[in-house]
Amino acid sequence: MPKMRAVQVPSPKASFEIVEREIPEPSPGSVRIKVQACGVCHSDSLTKEGTFPLVQYPRVPGHEVVGVVDAVGPGVPRWAPGQRAGVGWHGGNCGYCDACRRGDFFACQTFTAITGITYDGGYAEYMIARAEALASVPDELSPVEAGPLMCAGVTTFNCLRNSGARPGELVAVLGLGGLGHLAVQFAARAGFRTVGIARGKDKESLARELGAQHYIDSQAQNPAAELRKLGGAQVILATVTNGDAMAAVVGGLGAKGKLMVIGAAPSLMVSPGQLIGGRLSVNGWYSGTSIDSQDTLAFSVLAGVRSMNEVFPLERAAEAYERMMSGQARFRVVLKISS
Ligand SMILES: [Zn+2]
Ligand SMILES: [Zn+2]
Repeated sequence: MPKMRAVQVPSPKASFEIVEREIPEPSPGSVRIKVQACGVCHSDSLTKEGTFPLVQYPRVPGHEVVGVVDAVGPGVPRWAPGQRAGVGWHGGNCGYCDACRRGDFFACQTFTAITGITYDGGYAEYMIARAEALASVPDELSPVEAGPLMCAGVTTFNCLRNSGARPGELVAVLGLGGLGHLAVQFAARAGFRTVGIARGKDKESLARELGAQHYIDSQAQNPAAELRKLGGAQVILATVTNGDAMAAVVGGLGAKGKLMVIGAAPSLMVSPGQLIGGRLSVNGWYSGTSIDSQDTLAFSVLAGVRSMNEVFPLERAAEAYERMMSGQARFRVVLKISS
């Protein structure tokens, strides 16, 4: 049997190991992808550290996958070998449960298919993916460019476009890391008056290069007061994982404003009085399904949005993961697996 290299987590909290495995065959409804690039996302730590309940080990992480379809299982319409495809967090849905029949594929009640968590992901030369989880990848994006857009990109873009904010309205992005540096680009290019909020003066020039019209240094200034001076934000996209930092900006929302939460902070304290007086809301947002990813890729081509990436080969996956976890990467880390 032909073999492939894969990087797996043997058990919770154990070190990554590079292994040889048989190249898997696609089952009905699935395709095999020859992986070209896979982004390293903070959520890979759910697999690595064993903090997600459904993971069975050993497990290959990776849910920012871009490659080429190289085998198609029975019962898969529209996909053929040679087509470029991407796979994100959403690994599939049944299509027949009540949630799916309402179009809420993310809440599928039949199975929980999460790429790199409940089945093997993209830290490997090949992976199997369900057909409904595939996004078509445009020619204009290289595999390394497209990888981070499959999670960080779709999460921020899809959150913004479903936030209710309209062109010209004030949208703030809290945090200028892996998610935030994409969110600022999407917000600015989508026609919002865009505010970047981060700690320290040194991120101001980056925020402006990415398209922000305003920058708030949350260490030196009160971010809520500064947002109110600008008229109050219609939407604040919270990309940080610190609940106190999120709570500190809620007062900067304008009437009927929304705090859109995509950073998985452990807790968030918001005063009900604040919510009531301004008719404010706090909204969680899930990344998106394959068509949302495909729309993200297409918009990124249209508007020139790109992730800034640090690139590592597959065999240095452990180092790439540590770099991502350090919080020091500028701004996403990507494994380049084949050309
Ligand atoms: Zn992710
Ligand atoms: Zn379903």
